[in-house]
Amino acid sequence: MTPTSGAPAPAERNPYEAMLRRFDAAAKILGLDPNLYELLKIPDRELTVAIPVILDDGSLRVFPGYRVQHSISRGPCKGGIRFAPDVTIEEVRALAAWMTWKCAVVGIPFGGAKGGVRCDPRKMSRREVEQVVRRYTASIMDILGPERDVPAPDMGTDEQVMAWVMDTYSMHVRHTVTAVVTGKPIALGGSKGRRESTGRGVTLMAREALKVLGMEREGCRVAIQGAGNVGSIAASLFHEQGYRVVAISDVSGGIHDPEGLDIPSLLAHLQQRRTLEGYGGGDRIDNAALLTCECDLLVPAATENQITSANAERVRARVVLEGANGPTTAEADAILDKKGTFVVPDILCNAGGVTVSYFEWVQDRMGYFWEESLVNERLERILVNSFHDVRGSAEKHNASMRLGAYILAIARVAETTRLRGLYA
Ligand code: GLU
Repeated sequence: MTPTSGAPAPAERNPYEAMLRRFDAAAKILGLDPNLYELLKIPDRELTVAIPVILDDGSLRVFPGYRVQHSISRGPCKGGIRFAPDVTIEEVRALAAWMTWKCAVVGIPFGGAKGGVRCDPRKMSRREVEQVVRRYTASIMDILGPERDVPAPDMGTDEQVMAWVMDTYSMHVRHTVTAVVTGKPIALGGSKGRRESTGRGVTLMAREALKVLGMEREGCRVAIQGAGNVGSIAASLFHEQGYRVVAISDVSGGIHDPEGLDIPSLLAHLQQRRTLEGYGGGDRIDNAALLTCECDLLVPAATENQITSANAERVRARVVLEGANGPTTAEADAILDKKGTFVVPDILCNAGGVTVSYFEWVQDRMGYFWEESLVNERLERILVNSFHDVRGSAEKHNASMRLGAYILAIARVAETTRLRGLYA
């Protein structure tokens, strides 16, 4: 039975199960060889480390940290590092697998990884965060490197964190290795356009979805859950491109105006105060109500498990653009499919970030840096082609865009795995 209200069951909220449910469905449609199924399902390597840090008050605290490498079949591992108070190994494992599929969907030569540290950077000083970053990096550095595993920012981490990872790694190997992380400050070998790339990708996916559905951009209403790197940049670009952004939220709750929000003033407030709280315009709306508000495009750009069996029926948007990783549960997929909601799945929709990370890695290794216009042009080409590849795959198999994306990705990873063979 599918509940229509109340909290979803704990199993529905397990992100690794959510990943496996889609993987299983796609593997079945694809007729994936059972041996390859076994191989691709399990992560290649998981490292758990203890990160002891002396806090500003003089006490010692040990933070658990993880790095999961899901697959190296298509190249070095790639994926962000997440700092959050509720990070678990299961979550990092799911996110690592999603990175494998994401890199394969957009055809960039990486496998997938993810890292996480269970800590709350919002409640820590910058010095404490730096200590965590440096000790975490030193503890996992044997499995890092431009040819091995290349981290990037994710929830709770930023360009400065990447600078500390790069510096710590470089100090240990005794020379500067810029290509060991992406999402760095531009002064340290970061790429122009990287910071905006995930949000920009979301707007490109919106444009393609509207074309396919024969919808107009003018007056198209957008609701965005999340005002971090992805949500805030997407809001700014949507606004610039003539969409009507009717709602946006952060951890403190959301702001809503059916006539359209004044995004430049809202983002200026956010930048100054680091929270949407206290913003004068619009009405207050909570994060749950935002997901079911009247809009045409819904962009969940916060965290996992937001659209579930408990609220999917009430989602009113015609298009869901997954800026976050895993915002929709497998149970909710079925409900949205039935309603005819067009979902641009996370492993395609938010792949702009890792695509420009790839460009950053290439530029670092070339030692030659590109103009922002070239970065954006190449990003657009890759994402738009990938959107249509996914759509083709979905149509061929009479499946949703999500399953179309998984089928495409799994087939690509299966092919490289088959060609490489098994080293025993
Ligand atoms: N953390 C981002 C993601 O989930 C970016 C990963 C990367 O650039 O390596 O896609």
